[in-house]
Amino acid sequence: MEELKSALRDHSLTVSNLADKGRCLFTTRDFHPGEIIISQEPYVCVPNNTPAESRCDGCFTSGNLKKCSACQVAWYCGSTCQKSEWKLHRLECTTFSKLDKSRRKSVTSSIRLMVKLYLRRKLQSEKVIPSTATDNYDLVKELVAHMSNIDEKQLVLYAQMANLVNLILQCPEINIKEIAEIFSKFACNAHTICDSELRPLGTGLYPVISIINHSCLPNSVLVFEGKSAVVRAVQHIPKGTEVFISYIETAGSTMTRQTSLKEQYLFTCRCPRCSKTGQYDDVRESAILEGYRCKDHKCDGFLLRDSDDKGFVCQHCGLARNKEEIKNLAMKIKEVSEKAVTSTSSGNHREAMSMYKRIEKLQSQLCHPFSISLLRTREKVIEVYFCTLNHLLIYLTPVNFELILFHSYYSFLLLI
Ligand SMILES: [Zn+2]
Ligand SMILES: [Zn+2]
Ligand SMILES: [Zn+2]
Ligand SMILES: [Zn+2]
Repeated sequence: MEELKSALRDHSLTVSNLADKGRCLFTTRDFHPGEIIISQEPYVCVPNNTPAESRCDGCFTSGNLKKCSACQVAWYCGSTCQKSEWKLHRLECTTFSKLDKSRRKSVTSSIRLMVKLYLRRKLQSEKVIPSTATDNYDLVKELVAHMSNIDEKQLVLYAQMANLVNLILQCPEINIKEIAEIFSKFACNAHTICDSELRPLGTGLYPVISIINHSCLPNSVLVFEGKSAVVRAVQHIPKGTEVFISYIETAGSTMTRQTSLKEQYLFTCRCPRCSKTGQYDDVRESAILEGYRCKDHKCDGFLLRDSDDKGFVCQHCGLARNKEEIKNLAMKIKEVSEKAVTSTSSGNHREAMSMYKRIEKLQSQLCHPFSISLLRTREKVIEVYFCTLNHLLIYLTPVNFELILFHSYYSFLLLI
């Protein structure tokens, strides 16, 4: 901890251990909007490899890759990436090469992440790979696992995965309970590495970034530049303030946010936004984000459930919407959405495009104009549109469309 503290001091940051919330990252000087607070390379990471698409182990690019002929698990774009990964892959390669074909198929991303974690720890303890204050296994040990909050079914699954890791590594000193606990740490701490269009490329463990706590009203944002996790200030952060990022999508109602935090990260958020639960501002925000629109399309009031539960009433003009009519529209949307998913997965982009446009039309009749579902559909329309113009993508990739759209939308919400 002392070593880490002194490394963070150089970045004008410090770690505090608070009784009620554990480790927290604090600033020791003012940070300005857009400024990098901290960045970290992954302790270990794995690309998302599917039978349909593989990614380079070194840089996560796809296309024109060569498979490692010895293990048939890792892919590389060229010799530079292969060389940069070799110290770790040499051990991993020997381990995977010993497996028979069927067992090799059971090596999922999380199993591979665990195997890499053990091998990297071994190489660092043997000093084959150097350790630093921000790159060592002790930082992984410090990560929260929330073992007491995990249900029995999940524990059994972790134990099975731990057994498989043990079989792969064939290392007698490995402790199954410890592996199961690290799987739980992965679930609470590992990050999905995304490209600039927020497409998931892989998974990585960033133990220093994991010190940063969650807020639904964060002062910073985590983005990925290649495999590096970069935390930037999104507002002026005065000296002595805790740094917060959001672990989830912030544009959801309090109930939606709390549910996903509880399910995925096993904690209850007590941020300023969540502590407003049930207050007028929170009810209004939730009804806008996930509620229905007024019957009068010129009115942008938000709707709340009628006291006799027959429908929903606009809080601005008093017009009511019938429950049945809402239910029918929601059913139609569900039907078309299922068809749109099928068209997208079968690669029929033109059909998918017309489906999403239909969904947008139906949702415009059902949802509040600033609803998150409507925003998601519009993003889909843009995404499918780009798919139909695939060749144009080459020129347009630097534009982080989704992120811009999301941020402008959210800033707008905060203004209203
Ligand atoms: Zn590469
Ligand atoms: Zn290999
Ligand atoms: Zn919150
Ligand atoms: Zn109204």
